[in-house]
Amino acid sequence: MTPYIVDASIAPQVWTWITTRTGVQVWSNELVGSATGPRMTPVLDPDGQPNTQKPHWSCGKIDLVLTSLNEVEVSSSRELKRLRVALRRSGNGLSLKLTDGSAARARKACQDLRPWSCPCGWTGFAKGLKYVPVPNTRAEEAVCPKCKKGETLVEGPEPWFTPVYDGEHPEVAVMVEDRLVPLETWIKENNHAT
Ligand SMILES: [Zn+2]
Repeated sequence: MTPYIVDASIAPQVWTWITTRTGVQVWSNELVGSATGPRMTPVLDPDGQPNTQKPHWSCGKIDLVLTSLNEVEVSSSRELKRLRVALRRSGNGLSLKLTDGSAARARKACQDLRPWSCPCGWTGFAKGLKYVPVPNTRAEEAVCPKCKKGETLVEGPEPWFTPVYDGEHPEVAVMVEDRLVPLETWIKENNHAT
């Protein structure tokens, strides 16, 4: 069975419901065009009775019941870097935006910090790649800094940046999706279980 993927923000809740309430019910979203996504409820209510109450009026039916920790994987992101940025008022004056210079620097950091890997074991960022000329052309190709091969390199997920307001100096954090981890492993790593 393909594991069901949940965001790290709800992983502790899912873990608790599977271990203490028999499992998690995943409800369909009937609201066409909404990005709310599925909502979840525990299989049993706190009194141990079957819990059939829809969590929200936009929910349709129960699509899936997850009863084993092995059925769930956790998707988490990690921070790669922080950048000090400058802000300006947007056109209507109501919101703040990055200045053009700061936006360009943040986009460049996202490109530079895109993870790459090679089956030989090398992992690194786009900015750490070596380039060599392709014979008989004017082009260059990226090669693995360790095994020097080009065709085996694998590009990882694209980073994004998100605002962080830390004291008086606005900053953005460059984030990237981390590996998918089995739910049980994630809980252990993040010390939610005892
Ligand atoms: Zn390699």
